[in-house]
Amino acid sequence: MYESEKKEMLKACMQMKEYQLISLTGGNISVKIDDDTFLVTPSGMLYEDMNIDDICVIDNKGNIKEGIRKPSSDYEALLYIFNNLKDVKAIIHTHQPYATAIGFNNDSLPACMVTLIDAAHARINVAPWARSQDVGMGKLVVEYAGDASAVILKHHGVVTFGKDLKEALYSAVYLEEAAKTYCMARIMGDVPELTQQQIDEEASGWNSYGQNN
Ligand code: 13P
Ligand code: ZN
Repeated sequence: MYESEKKEMLKACMQMKEYQLISLTGGNISVKIDDDTFLVTPSGMLYEDMNIDDICVIDNKGNIKEGIRKPSSDYEALLYIFNNLKDVKAIIHTHQPYATAIGFNNDSLPACMVTLIDAAHARINVAPWARSQDVGMGKLVVEYAGDASAVILKHHGVVTFGKDLKEALYSAVYLEEAAKTYCMARIMGDVPELTQQQIDEEASGWNSYGQNN
């Protein structure tokens, strides 16, 4: 079941790799079908080796509904995010290096680039460390999301989310681009943040950007 959703997840997995957001088996992708049905990538598998039969279908308690693989070790955190962030239907977790680097010495990545605002909507907060494979990671994502569709996890990586996989992927990729640019700019000096008025103006343009299909 859910063949088209699983195919879309595998495509997003390869895009995470292509944009260098993960190495080897790091990170995971999950999708909400309904309140008791979630698709999650299997734990510890290389993305290039995954096929649609490896994607796990789990219920809201983490029980396997379909599939032969063990689901992502972050499944409890992912379910917590789905259950507590309104309208979130897709989550991408990465270890993307530039955004993760920001997390060591900063409380947030300022809203400094239009692409960041377009895809992630606001400054990106850094959540304190929590061990992976535990619901605590999900609780921190919910607590630190604010108005953004991404949170940086200190000493770990990034979680992005959206109403579909495209939104979650755009948030992750443009966050990494902004984080890289921010790191380079900080070598030269302070980096100014966009004002709320500029952020609102930018959002109105993004809503009509692209092909609308
Ligand atoms: P899984 O392969 O179990 O999803 O773990 C990857 C990861 O990034 C843990 O935080
Ligand atoms: Zn991780």
